[in-house]
Parts: sequence; C-alpha cells; structure tokens
Amino acid sequence: MKIFKQLEQRRRWAEDERILLDQVRRIADSVIAPNAARYDREETFPQDSIEAVNKLGLNAIFVPEAYGGTPMSYRLYLAIVQAISEACASTGIIYATTFHGMKPLIDFGTEEQKKRLLPRVAAGAIGSLAITEAAAGSDATAMTLRYTPDGDDIIVDGNKLFITSGSAADLLLVFGKWSEIEDPKQAISALIVEKETPGFEVGRIEEKLGHRASPTAALAFNGARVPRANLLGKPGEGLRLLLASLNKSRPSIAAHALGIATAAFKDMIAYMNARSVGKRRVLDYQANQFLVADLAAELALTESWLDYVASLIDGGASEFGLEASIAKLRASDLAMRMTTEAVQMHGGYGYIRDYRVERLMRDAKITQIWEGTNQVHRQLIGRSFIEK
Ligand SMILES: Cc1cc2nc3c(=O)[nH]c(=O)nc-3n(C[C@H](O)[C@H](O)[C@H](O)COP(=O)(O)OP(=O)(O)OC[C@H]3O[C@@H](n4cnc5c(N)ncnc54)[C@H](O)[C@@H]3O)c2cc1C
Repeated sequence: MKIFKQLEQRRRWAEDERILLDQVRRIADSVIAPNAARYDREETFPQDSIEAVNKLGLNAIFVPEAYGGTPMSYRLYLAIVQAISEACASTGIIYATTFHGMKPLIDFGTEEQKKRLLPRVAAGAIGSLAITEAAAGSDATAMTLRYTPDGDDIIVDGNKLFITSGSAADLLLVFGKWSEIEDPKQAISALIVEKETPGFEVGRIEEKLGHRASPTAALAFNGARVPRANLLGKPGEGLRLLLASLNKSRPSIAAHALGIATAAFKDMIAYMNARSVGKRRVLDYQANQFLVADLAAELALTESWLDYVASLIDGGASEFGLEASIAKLRASDLAMRMTTEAVQMHGGYGYIRDYRVERLMRDAKITQIWEGTNQVHRQLIGRSFIEK
C-alpha cells in the first residue's frame, strides 16, 4: 500500500480539510463499515450511518455560509464521498445524491429559494434527483412528466422511475415538461418538490442486485400542486440546468465508484498475502503480481485524474463535461473490474457472503449504468473528436 499512502500524503489538504477527512474516516471505520453488511442483507435504510454523516454536518460542506453551510472544496467533497463509499456504497450514494439533487438549487436558485430551503439541506435533509422515467432513461429528453401552470401553483402529473432516495428524500429536484412549450427539449423545466406535497406518492421500492440499503423508488405525481416559487430557473431552462448539474454529479459518481474499487483492492491484497496455496502465498505467483500491478496502476491514475477534474471545478472552470465523463467512465469500469478480480483472487471464498468482496462486486455494476451509461459516455467522448 506504500504507493497509495504516498499519494494520500502528497495531496496537501488544508488543516481544516485534513481534520474533517480524519473524522469522516473515523465514522467510516466505527459506524458505517461495521453496519454495511447488515443493511445490505436486510435491505434497510442505513439510518445509523446517515445519522453519523449528519452528526459531522457533511451536507454543510457544499452549502454556502449565508444559508447555514460551512463550505469547503469540491475536492474535499469528492474525497469524502470516496471514503464513505469505501465503507458502504449505499450510504455513499445516499450522501452523494443529496449533493446531486441540491447543487442545482445552490447554483441556480433565487435568493428566496435558497434562504427558504438550503438551511434544511445544511442541517441534514436528504435530497433526490428525479430525471428517469419508464421510457426516458439514456434519452432523458423523452420524459413526459408534465408541469401545468395554475395561478401561483404548478400542477404536476406523471411518473418517475428508479429514483435514488426517492422514498427517503425531504426535497426532490424533479425534471418535467412545461405544458405551454411545444418543443420537447425547450419544454424541460426543473422543480423542487417537498416530501409532504399532496398528490405526490412513493410507489414501489425496487429489489436490486446491489446497493440494497439505498432505496430506489418509483414516484407518482397525480395532480400534485407545487408552489410556483419552487420552480428552478425559468420555464424551459431545465435542460441547461440538467446538463450543468450532471457535469458536477458525474465526478461525484466517479468518486463513489473509486470508493468501491479501493475497498476491493484492499481486501484483495490482504487476502492474497494471507492465503497460501501449496507453499506459496497467492501474491507470490507472478501471474497474480502482474494482475495487481495493472489494477494498482489503474487505481492510481484514475484517482489522479479525478483530482485533476476537482481542481478544474474548484478553479472555476466553465467547461469540464468531457473530463467529467472520462472520470465517470474510467472509475466505474475500474470498480467493476477490480471487484470481479477481487472475487477471483479470493477463490471460492469470494463468492460467499462472509467476505465483503461479494457485496462489492454486486455494488459495482450499477456504477457503469447510472448518471449516463458507459456507452453514452463513450459516445460523448468519442464524438467530441468529429471535426465540424
Ligand atoms: C439503482 C438505480 C438507481 C438510479 N438512480 C437514479 C436517480 O436517482 N435519478 C434518476 O433520474 N435516475 C436514476 N436511475 C436511472 C438510471 O440513470 C438509468 O437506468 C440509466 O440512465 C439508463 O437508462 P435506462 O435504464 O432507461 O436504459 P436505456 O436508456 O433503455 O438503455 C438500454 C441500453 O441501451 C444502451 N444505449 C442507450 N443509448 C445508447 C447510445 N447512444 N449508444 C449505445 N448504446 C446506448 C445503454 O447503454 C443500455 O445498455 C437509477 C437506476 C438504477 C438501476
């Protein structure tokens, strides 16, 4: 682990960042990791883990001071997502999803909206981001959820599917189409929906391969009446908001995937050193050393790339979509490969629930699918080279 220790030591955190990161690692070791297998097995919301996250005030690090936050760098936010996800991928994605859903409110909300809603987020409210529908996944512009203005209110009709934290969220950022705008892309608009809104209902909770402690919900809006004051941006500005938000949530998804990959790498190395086959340890075989070398190199380079993307965002860069796509693509492919190889290096024990790598492999798969499937990211990156 020498190379990864060196990498970490050279990251030069500010003193307050280092202290917070140490505190996060402590709750990850003492609360989040020890409970992760149980929450996965029971498919229950990781309440103790989220309470520990909120006790440290981790939402506050991405909320501006004027609205109750104690803002810190995006780079630190990513390191925190990675550390929590290493301990429990479900807890990591619940925490990160609050950021994904609420960051657009921070970036694009009016003063009134931010004053009214953000102190709740800083204090630990759970956020959700609702884009996907049954017939609108990779092509989000095919969404049909409808916003009809009615005086000071907006009437919401339609359904959302596969929404992380949909059943647990206090505030949901929901994307739909403005009834008065005909063009299907120009009509997309963004609305903050509060949990208690009449006409908003949580439907089925999906049974899943992994991330079993993170609830994935179907949502129904049957004439739900939301104050127009909750509209983010103007009618029809939703697509711009959506794309800008995804650019900041994709590195966060990469950090989450790297958390899973790191956990698998650590378990794999420990096991390969401890387990002997014949008179040699599993890691004494050169074929396996080559495998470890490739995985370690990929992990180190992907982490460094993510740090680079974070530095772009912290530095105020306006265009970093392709860099974010590369981070998401590489980190999630690595999480899948790393966890699969970690299971392989555990032999039969890797397939048994007693060992964490079994869960990690199940948790890894979705990282290649959500926030744009990796096919979509390959298309985004590849087509950027077409000369116009
Ligand atoms: C556990 C879980 C949590 C989720 N959380 C959220 C959430 O919080 N909020 C939210 O809005 N959504 C969420 N989603 C939805 C997720 O983002 C979508 O499932 C994903 O975007 C893919 O959409 P789809 O499932 O409709 O697949 P489809 O779009 O139907 O894709 C099917 C296949 O076609 C491929 N494909 C699509 N376009 C192309 C292309 N251009 N080139 C080549 N191949 C292509 C895809 O890669 C895929 O292999 C979640 C999903 C799951 C399973």
